Amino acid sequence: MLYDYLTTNEEGRLVIGGVDVKDLAEEYGTPLYVLSEDRIRENCRKYTAAMAKYFPEGSFPLYAGKALCFKGIYPVIDDEGMGADVVSPGEIFTALAAGFPAEKLFFHGTNKTDSEIEYALDCGIGCFVIDNMNELAALDKAAGEKGMKQKALLRLTVGIDPHTFKAVQTGMIDSQFGIPIQTGQAEGFLKAALDAENIEVAGFHSHIGSQIMDSYQFCDQADILLEFAADMKEKYGYTAEYFNIGGGFGVRYTEKDPTVDIEGNISDIAEHLAAGCEKAGLPVPKVLMEPGRSIVADAGVTIYEAGGIKTVEGYREYVTIDGGMTDNPRFALYGSEYTVLNASRADAPADFECTVAGRCCESGDRIAEDIMIARPERGDLIAVLGTGAYNYAMSMNYNRVPRPAMVMLSGGKARLVVRRQTFEDLISCEL
Ligand SMILES: *Cc1c(COP(=O)(O)O)cnc(C)c1O
Repeated sequence: MLYDYLTTNEEGRLVIGGVDVKDLAEEYGTPLYVLSEDRIRENCRKYTAAMAKYFPEGSFPLYAGKALCFKGIYPVIDDEGMGADVVSPGEIFTALAAGFPAEKLFFHGTNKTDSEIEYALDCGIGCFVIDNMNELAALDKAAGEKGMKQKALLRLTVGIDPHTFKAVQTGMIDSQFGIPIQTGQAEGFLKAALDAENIEVAGFHSHIGSQIMDSYQFCDQADILLEFAADMKEKYGYTAEYFNIGGGFGVRYTEKDPTVDIEGNISDIAEHLAAGCEKAGLPVPKVLMEPGRSIVADAGVTIYEAGGIKTVEGYREYVTIDGGMTDNPRFALYGSEYTVLNASRADAPADFECTVAGRCCESGDRIAEDIMIARPERGDLIAVLGTGAYNYAMSMNYNRVPRPAMVMLSGGKARLVVRRQTFEDLISCEL
């Protein structure tokens, strides 16, 4: 199967981390998010071990909470020795409510309001990632009023197209995130930050995109950052302590996606960076990475119950499920591909071509199109693999569909970590 923690049992059903899907569905209901804590820990260790081995001391990964933010994830991330990046006060609140240390949080966001800046300062956030000049001024002022000196990274754009990962002269400079190097504005940004009395500039951040399968994009990014860093050292005597190189590697959603060698790639990046630093006469900076997807995506499986088959004569067979875009909007948003299987007949041949449709009054509510699964009957369990990232985090209550429950599996045991929303929850904010 796509992931090694998935097997089938004698009854032909899918078994996730040692637990039969039928037992999960009976105990917790469907749709259900199932998350393998064991797999999450394995994924964390790939980053922590390789980063400690190949990058200078003080380098570590930050879990990008936007991929899957709920209280239960933070003790695991903390336990694995990772920091976390947060993009909103809501994410800060969630992490702190789970007991995650504030000094290990890095605060992102393109438009942090004055009250959000104040909230983060009061929480004792370890590091801001300053996006722009407006934020720089607001943070300097707010920190000064509190008699604080706030550690921060400056978010820069390196002009690499996230779709093709080609370095471009003028193309991907046009972005709402960070300040571009190529236009010369990053220099002014750094100068202003160095002049800001209440900000300690710890280094640079840049993020080129998601689902990166190789090291060369990160190497190109490092080259551009290094050239800038060398120039800044010469002009202002500034040496960056940290390079935060952004989001992590890509994951396998289907059999045709490659498996990324995280350790090998990190080793390649480290070698490239060290050589570049030597050439530029710079000390090798501590490196931060912000994997989100590659920590949680392949640890997640969503279980649905099939409503049955609808045949549109001469066109398609539709399999309907009791969830869809409300718990996984990624097909509707991006046409994302997933591996789907009939979990009640996981060892039967996948010889039935169908499109899996959700329950919303919205023609875009689909999970997968023209895929092959074992022909389902009404009541069969349908499993969608690789749903750990950007599913629960992006879920919604369209059509007043309650959000599913989530269970975490560890050592062959399941525990409820998010309870299913009730109808009362749906109206709880409405006066
Ligand atoms: C989205 C994002 C990440 C996480 O990316 P993944 O592909 O989930 O690893 C990290 N950092 C920043 C700034 C991001 O925008």
